[in-house]
Amino acid sequence: MTSAEDEALRAKIRNKLYYGIQGYTKNLPDFVIPENLQRFSVRKGDEFFASLRTALTGEDEINVYLHVPFCKFECTFCNTRPNMPDAEAETQYFNRLMKEIQLYASEGAFEGRRTRSIYFGGGTPTMFSPEQIGELVDLLKTNAPLHDEATVSVEATPGSLAKDVIPRLRDAGVDRLSIGCQTFDLAVLKLCMRSHTPRQMEGIIRTAHDNGMRLNVDIMLGLAGQTLESLDADLEILEDLKPDAVEFIRHEIVNQKMVDVYDERPELLVSDDDLFAMTLKAHQWSEDNGYEQNGRFTHDQDFPYRYHWLKGMPLLAFGARTRSYVNALCYENQENLGLYGKMIDRGLPPLHQHQQLSHKEQMYRALFLGIQIRAGVDRAQFREKYGVDVTTALTDVVGGLRDLEAIEVDEDGVRLTRYGQYFYEDVCCYIMDTAKRADFSDHERTPFSYGTAWEAGPR
Ligand code: SF4
Repeated sequence: MTSAEDEALRAKIRNKLYYGIQGYTKNLPDFVIPENLQRFSVRKGDEFFASLRTALTGEDEINVYLHVPFCKFECTFCNTRPNMPDAEAETQYFNRLMKEIQLYASEGAFEGRRTRSIYFGGGTPTMFSPEQIGELVDLLKTNAPLHDEATVSVEATPGSLAKDVIPRLRDAGVDRLSIGCQTFDLAVLKLCMRSHTPRQMEGIIRTAHDNGMRLNVDIMLGLAGQTLESLDADLEILEDLKPDAVEFIRHEIVNQKMVDVYDERPELLVSDDDLFAMTLKAHQWSEDNGYEQNGRFTHDQDFPYRYHWLKGMPLLAFGARTRSYVNALCYENQENLGLYGKMIDRGLPPLHQHQQLSHKEQMYRALFLGIQIRAGVDRAQFREKYGVDVTTALTDVVGGLRDLEAIEVDEDGVRLTRYGQYFYEDVCCYIMDTAKRADFSDHERTPFSYGTAWEAGPR
């Protein structure tokens, strides 16, 4: 491809894909049509578990997510609304998390299955002691033994890893850390209400490696005050630090604190053009340095939990505010800690809402997830599972993305092009948008986040 052709291709991706669907920005998107979720009735606990067992039939491996909704930080970019530290509430929540797992075990959710990956997310999971994390891992192992290549990952912030924590996490069975670093630019970190230094990260990486753990570093794109130059500086630091994996995440403005920052200093808002350029730069750097990213995963070593989720492995998520997917069954737990706790105490699954994906929704989701793996969607497997070819079943979305040169189709599969990989979030949003227009046009279409709506007028 000549450089002029490459430039034309990038312009198409920018103008038609990136700008075309900007009302639907969402980092790490998944396919769910919120309007289709039904409220869970507490009288239907048995019915729910029966449908879960049916959905799990034939599945011998599971992905497990455990949510810890407490955090002592108040980052302005946070999109998870964690609870502030409270020793009593944390202990109570820990006990209920254990009970929730036991409840699912007693209902046969783990029977005959092995755990492929466990991921502790938050909040800040290290608000639990490493020993508590170990108890949860042991409970899961008792019910669904770990696969030989299973991984146990814990999310953490650089400031939450006191010196002795990493060895204790290793003793608890943890073998992978996911560090929310976001940037090394001190001015940007200050606006985010965070602080850490490259030296601190260097120490964490060394300690993790000394303890036989792998580690990934998250870097955000589009934080308040971030520039292309500050991203360059971050990339240089990463080249020195050499973490095992790096994940770039586009910032979405969902936190009121961040909106307040922009209200006071609108000049800090990263322009859409700059965010496009940052995304391009980060992904090019990633490719040049041999790092895997969403959109082009080739193996499960660096992001095991995500990889297996994209491959469609059942995801059983425990804790408040979590969402699980088991084939066509999708369900969300209560967000409110009080309600979550009350339902567990009454022996009920702590659900808020749930949904059986329709045949069409399952096909959209299979495309949505499958193309985030480099090999893409296998057309023969898709035909076998859904009884129809993906290009016929989802003509609009496949045709549209092909016209944008975000995907390529051959007789074996459907996969992202290079720029499709870089802008996989926009591809996912395009699929979501097309699905809503084509099949659910009677629903009100709600943007995922403030996105560019903020620029039109905050609040
Ligand atoms: S550390 Fe994570 S969970 Fe806590 S406030 Fe920051 S972004 Fe949110």
